[in-house]
Amino acid sequence: MGSADERPGQAPVLTPGLASQPPTRCDVAIVGGGILGLAVARELLSRKPDMSLCVLEREQEVATHQTGHNSGVVHAGIYYTPGSLKARLCVQGARELYEYCNERGIPYEQCGKVIVATDASELQRLDELERRGKANRVQGLVRLDAQGIRALEPHAVGIAGLHSPATGIVSFPAVARSYAQDVAQAGGTVVGGCEVQAVSAGPRTVRLEHSHGATEAGHAIFCAGAWADRLAVAAGADPDPRIVPFRGAYLRLSPERRDLVRSLIYPVPDPTLPFLGVHLTKHIDGDILIGPTALLAGARDAYSLARIRPGDIRDTLAWPGSWRMFARWWRTGITEMRHAAVRAAFVRAAARYVPELRLRDVEPAFAGVRAQALARDGRLVDDFVFSATDRALHVRNAPSPAATSSLAIARHVVDHAQRAFDL
Ligand SMILES: Cc1cc2nc3c(=O)[nH]c(=O)nc-3n(C[C@H](O)[C@H](O)[C@H](O)COP(=O)(O)OP(=O)(O)OC[C@H]3O[C@@H](n4cnc5c(N)ncnc54)[C@H](O)[C@@H]3O)c2cc1C
Repeated sequence: MGSADERPGQAPVLTPGLASQPPTRCDVAIVGGGILGLAVARELLSRKPDMSLCVLEREQEVATHQTGHNSGVVHAGIYYTPGSLKARLCVQGARELYEYCNERGIPYEQCGKVIVATDASELQRLDELERRGKANRVQGLVRLDAQGIRALEPHAVGIAGLHSPATGIVSFPAVARSYAQDVAQAGGTVVGGCEVQAVSAGPRTVRLEHSHGATEAGHAIFCAGAWADRLAVAAGADPDPRIVPFRGAYLRLSPERRDLVRSLIYPVPDPTLPFLGVHLTKHIDGDILIGPTALLAGARDAYSLARIRPGDIRDTLAWPGSWRMFARWWRTGITEMRHAAVRAAFVRAAARYVPELRLRDVEPAFAGVRAQALARDGRLVDDFVFSATDRALHVRNAPSPAATSSLAIARHVVDHAQRAFDL
């Protein structure tokens, strides 16, 4: 795959109101200026307007990591085990996100999505998806036959499908920047270029040492994505689960072939993996993306294939869960390596759903890196995970659909913080 480190939003957009200096003291410090850290900050300030709060973000801009490198799909909540946090927070979060976008004039499109089964061996899994979707109260799910698929996606083929009209697309960086503006308007401080390097909890405060000195906060909430495990361990948490980075590269259809896909075409995923498989998705800027791959990466910020960080590799290899995962998933790993290395193989995988697709129709786009929690026993942790240490809360696993669910996750985290810390 190409090594483009380019974001779907193309030219970088600056967030107005970012501060360059963190406060030395505050009531609550949030570490991480991705969509979750900003959503949590916004939710806290809406409940406690007098609170002094800062968001400390390592990069110069917000939304630079997972929030800025993803499929941009507002998931409806079909896939997730009924009763799980993912199921509940995705369905609520998607509804709230559409309302938020309406209020703030953020462009989105509820374009709908089709999950396509191409052979009989997938039908039972499609039934299960329909059952889950209905149990999760996803609105408007409809079963499709081959003709029904064609009516919605004239270039797609399959023997059966599931249509979710509630699924949509949005720019998550635009949403995150809008959250950052809400935080600044509510009196919070969002600081860029401020990497938290050490954490220590005392009887009254938690001390965050960072590139500008230190901030003493009454409490801290860590929403650090791919670096969540390191900061949690620094604050005294259990090292289980560890984050392993999975690189997800995308291709894009050349503009003259965009007619091959109207909205979102997804495969029937392997229910034992937390990834949804290679999909063809319309992006809010008009691009049609194909991807993402799912390749174990050599760095937690491996936006190019060549980026290798020995410390990140050491952390992955030193984790017993990694070896248990390799033993279980080596065949899937080989397929993913082929998709990452041989563009023709990747295009063939997507052409299973859109047979007219040819190698000449695509060009490299960008890559994202999933922060996926891996348990000591080798399990890829499926659900969202939140945990606590002295004076701190940690978001330990927030992969897809956490961007969709951001407003609902923020409520969940702030409820937890108010119970734990009497805020
Ligand atoms: C390829 C891919 C496709 C996806 N597709 C979708 C999708 O279609 N729909 C969906 O809902 N979700 C999708 N997701 C998931 C979604 O992007 C994430 O769940 C979401 O962005 C997580 O937000 P976050 O704020 O936790 O993480 P991030 O956006 O990664 O933010 C974490 C932030 O913490 C900062 N940070 C880390 N360490 C420190 C430190 N020491 N000091 C200060 N700051 C620090 C980082 O710089 C970063 O900005 C996808 C993810 C990927 C990778």
